[in-house]
Amino acid sequence: MPRIDAPAAPRTVAGETPLALLRRARRTNRALAVAHPDAHCELDFTTPLELLVATVLSAQTTDVRVNQVTPVLFARYPSAADYAAADVEDIEQIIRPTGFFRAKAKSLVGLGRALVERHDGEVPADLDALVALPGVGRKTANVVLGDAFGVPGLTVDTHFGRLVRRLGWTTEEDPVKVETAVGELIEKREWTLLSHRLIFHGRRVCHSRRPACGACAIAQLCPSAGIGETDPAAAAALVRPY
Ligand code: SF4
Repeated sequence: MPRIDAPAAPRTVAGETPLALLRRARRTNRALAVAHPDAHCELDFTTPLELLVATVLSAQTTDVRVNQVTPVLFARYPSAADYAAADVEDIEQIIRPTGFFRAKAKSLVGLGRALVERHDGEVPADLDALVALPGVGRKTANVVLGDAFGVPGLTVDTHFGRLVRRLGWTTEEDPVKVETAVGELIEKREWTLLSHRLIFHGRRVCHSRRPACGACAIAQLCPSAGIGETDPAAAAALVRPY
């Protein structure tokens, strides 16, 4: 089987009605739940502040790398006030392995100050208040809402966007438009877990460059099935373990 480096563009289902799309999307979510029963936030945290900090650190790096530095960081800086009063160079040294460490350290100090000044040091459980914090975008806010506060949120990262386009749920590229389109298809109570399932599937099976279609549990529901490796054994070898 030749190496596949550039999968074809995602496909949609020709002539699919809005109702048929809604039903297929919900069936796909249920199939993903079976395929990835352990889907969860892969960042380690115990409080909303820890998750907010870990999510800021996760930009342009892996969750594994973030989890390697956060035990020391969280022990040294347990509160927003601690970040607000921090020596930026000390934070830089701790978070260096996550990359872009100078900008991230500056963000964490700014975040600590904003939390102290605007929210008495607490992380707000509100989308508008979260995105108003320095360095916090919509994706980070939805991660915190969904995983720290139990408020359903769609976390449109690179995996989520790629998956829903391949699944033919939307053709939108803009994350906010993707969020709106998926929000109209999937029940709100499912949003947080759906996000984790899509991200798990994207990390392990439906890779950006070499999707493992021949080993994909949702291939029957995916109009893009076949854009990646279709040979079952070769596809199984592409699947990344948990
Ligand atoms: S069949 Fe599976 S691996 Fe292939 S494009 Fe669709 S979701 Fe991705």
